[in-house]
Amino acid sequence: MIPRIRIAHLPTPVEPLPRLSTILGGPRLWVKRDDQTGLALGGNKTRKLEFVVAEAQAHGAQTLITVGAVQSNHCRQTAALAARLGLECALVLFGESPKNPSGNYLLDRLFGAEVTWATRETYEAVLQETFEKAWAEGRRPYLIPLGASTPLGAIAYAYAFKEFAEQGIEADWIVLASSSAGTQAGLVLGARLSGWRGRILGISVDHPAGWVKERVAELASQAADRLGESVRIAPHEVEVNDSYIGAGYGVMGHREVEAIQLFARHEGLLLDPVYTGRAAAGMIDLIRSGFFKPGERVLFWHTGGIPALFADRYAPNLL
Ligand SMILES: *Cc1c(COP(=O)(O)O)cnc(C)c1O
Repeated sequence: MIPRIRIAHLPTPVEPLPRLSTILGGPRLWVKRDDQTGLALGGNKTRKLEFVVAEAQAHGAQTLITVGAVQSNHCRQTAALAARLGLECALVLFGESPKNPSGNYLLDRLFGAEVTWATRETYEAVLQETFEKAWAEGRRPYLIPLGASTPLGAIAYAYAFKEFAEQGIEADWIVLASSSAGTQAGLVLGARLSGWRGRILGISVDHPAGWVKERVAELASQAADRLGESVRIAPHEVEVNDSYIGAGYGVMGHREVEAIQLFARHEGLLLDPVYTGRAAAGMIDLIRSGFFKPGERVLFWHTGGIPALFADRYAPNLL
């Protein structure tokens, strides 16, 4: 048995999107609600942290250290879980201290996380310093990599795939936002282990498709090893579309705004500006361009991110 903290509200629901399906005039759409995992406004990192933080605790960790963008959902969920478990949390965030804390960063602070600022160039050194400082102070640090995309994080999503398969919804495609690749790696592994016939398409939020495919394949294969399965995933078996990166990570453009508005106005469903808004925008564009065949069923795997909607950087531009 792989150690696991049971904290997420599972199974997350699967719901049809009938109005959006009609308006887009393409495949029948469904959504898997991992925005409703229950920890501090939800998201995909909750599932990963169930395994990653269980391992941290097995090592006697007292302080969780991790890293991300100012509006990192991963950092927010890590800070919340640390609070819930009575651990300390030290975050290294890219950028500089905002004048008015908002969105995920406001929540990080509310959960009592200690924040150090870095850049995408210097963060590894800053993480190392943060780790050594905590160690020297006797706070037993444990370092969680970017996005908790480790083999254990991927294992969480192999189990998530199994959960979805048991919900009995037939789908030809799963579409999701992919960034540090652990979520897609787990889904791909879970699908392979259960012999699923559908296809899984990652819409890359930031990295070139080649990088994401390599990373998904590597993490899925390592996760399989850890589960004692002989399965290997090769990069060419992984499907990633990197046509929707636009102006780059975290830059919300007109496509994301349109996707967020469509989901909100026709389904009463919230997407986020960084990940699910971009992945949904890609899915919508693919529907309009006839990528999916008539009669296919598409499941949009909602990975969360809702607090970023309320960040000063995005909120004024949503309407
Ligand atoms: C982290 C995150 C993702 C990407 O998951 P990876 O495992 O890093 O690819 C997608 N959506 C949201 C909302 C996230 O916070």
